[in-house]
Amino acid sequence: MNHTPGPWSWNKNNWRGEEDLYYAYVAGDRYENEDGTQVSTGICRVEGNATSQRTTEANARLISAAPDLLAACERIAEFIDFPRSCNCDRCEAGRAIISAIAKAKREPNNAPTNQA
Ligand SMILES: [Zn+2]
Repeated sequence: MNHTPGPWSWNKNNWRGEEDLYYAYVAGDRYENEDGTQVSTGICRVEGNATSQRTTEANARLISAAPDLLAACERIAEFIDFPRSCNCDRCEAGRAIISAIAKAKREPNNAPTNQA
């Protein structure tokens, strides 16, 4: 199953357009309703509270960047070649990218390990 296409965005306004102190909202693709109003596909409501508003917003920013980060990782993974036997920073970074892609897509982690 594929995720809602990017780009995603986030904001502090709930579905009524009112600013919400306690939550942040992440939304996907926008489309126009039959009555001409602009609507976004809701992705999630990020929990928070008044004392951690900055953390809530940081979490919403990170979630909204997910499709962009996944696409960037997939592009990089196409170009990175990392031998299983190598422990250099570049190869470890490549394996971390493959692992992150697998986490996002729930695919088995096929990242080569250092074990022969
Ligand atoms: Zn290497």
